[in-house]
Amino acid sequence: MLGPMARGAWDGLRLRCPACRRGAMARGPLGLAERCPVCGAPFEPEEGDFVGAMLVAYSVTAVLVVAGIFITAALTPLSARAQWLLWLTFGALFLIGTYRNMKGAWVGILYAMTGLRRGGR
Ligand SMILES: [Zn+2]
Repeated sequence: MLGPMARGAWDGLRLRCPACRRGAMARGPLGLAERCPVCGAPFEPEEGDFVGAMLVAYSVTAVLVVAGIFITAALTPLSARAQWLLWLTFGALFLIGTYRNMKGAWVGILYAMTGLRRGGR
């Protein structure tokens, strides 16, 4: 169960179609295609899609920001306020920069789950 989900998440993170692993999910500089140009698998499968993607994106960002604050606190003489400012800025940029990949990863996870349900793999 975890194997296909991890594979789907990895494919999605690289913006590769989780169904055929050949089609590109990306469309333009920021968007996601509605379906795979190679196999036609839909990339906007469910209503909860957006919520899941936000959840994935925020969890990863929060972990990175907290880890980053610990690292700068240990290694630099920056004040606590400067560290927070630095890492919250990083977090915001990271969220914006990787949101599409996070959403892709979520689509990959969803695909693995629905594929399991449908095909019994
Ligand atoms: Zn495909």
